[in-house]
Amino acid sequence: MRLTPALFALLLAAATLFPGCAFAPATPTPKTFALAIHGGAGTLSKNTPPERRKEYEDALAAALTYGRDRLALGDSALDVCESVVRILEDDPRFNAGKGAVYNEQGQHELDASIMDGSTLRCGAVAGVRTVRHPISLARLVMEKTRHVLLAGDGAEKFADGQNIERVSNDWFDTEQRRKQLDEALKERASKGAAASASAGATATTPDTPPADRRRDYGTVGCVALDAQGRLVAATSTGGMTAKRWGRIGDSPVIGAGNYADRFIAVSCTGTGEQFLRHVVGKSISARVELAGASLDDAVAALVDRTLQPGDGGVIAVDRFGNLVARFSSEGMYRGLADASGRFEVGIF
Ligand code: ASP
Repeated sequence: MRLTPALFALLLAAATLFPGCAFAPATPTPKTFALAIHGGAGTLSKNTPPERRKEYEDALAAALTYGRDRLALGDSALDVCESVVRILEDDPRFNAGKGAVYNEQGQHELDASIMDGSTLRCGAVAGVRTVRHPISLARLVMEKTRHVLLAGDGAEKFADGQNIERVSNDWFDTEQRRKQLDEALKERASKGAAASASAGATATTPDTPPADRRRDYGTVGCVALDAQGRLVAATSTGGMTAKRWGRIGDSPVIGAGNYADRFIAVSCTGTGEQFLRHVVGKSISARVELAGASLDDAVAALVDRTLQPGDGGVIAVDRFGNLVARFSSEGMYRGLADASGRFEVGIF
């Protein structure tokens, strides 16, 4: 049948009068809110006893419940994402804030960023050493400066003038991360490098990935759509175990490891250098905005085809409240919830 102007007008009128009918434009009904969280792509191994797995699942469920309940009360995605990330930063199981990994000098250098997709306002910090909640410092950069990203001493100096909790660098220590650093340095030494934890800054270490890539990973993130239709992404990390002093990953780089706009919000985890190269956050958005891809397809294109197998994963939400969590690593700590009652946590 030929689509004449008269037939078109008829179909249009039918679609307007009967929005549920087959001719109606395929616009999904927006969910009033939706959120996803992650605790990084560097997970426990699949052989871990169920009791230990459950500890992680319970921690994810608690953070997800908190975020979901606040969104249900009508709180802003910005406040919710910041608060959920603060909870995960305080949890020593995840590589952000307390429990962050060590760099090759045995120090913690933390990166974080936050972005409000409704205004494109964003803030980020990199290489901070004494701020208990880097995500909150990132938000202060967004709200109190005209800049987007402050790094190292400059970020610490900015924190001095803010009402924000400070801790000594060893406050972030945990035995588990120390063990991972020791293993990483031992592995390097056995590869013939002249590295040591104390001489790390000048050592000539081979920059090859570790045998167990799970050591490369760990980050926390939250993406949310609130009842006002605003999309926000927040990400915080200790980076990669035994990273070089001064190394900055994708998490504080807007458009790479963290991004939000009118279409989507995305938070990434994995080998940061790969997410930087492929500008993963913005690339997902561009596929949705410019190519009309579904969120699912846009995320799959990046995670399954652009990135290499094992590079990591992403969580994302779009303006209709569709949620996606996809990874090519062995696992990714994650949780998804929305206004329809969906509530899921998973690791593998
Ligand atoms: N993407 C983070 C980084 O490279 C690490 C991670 O997410 O696992 O700093």
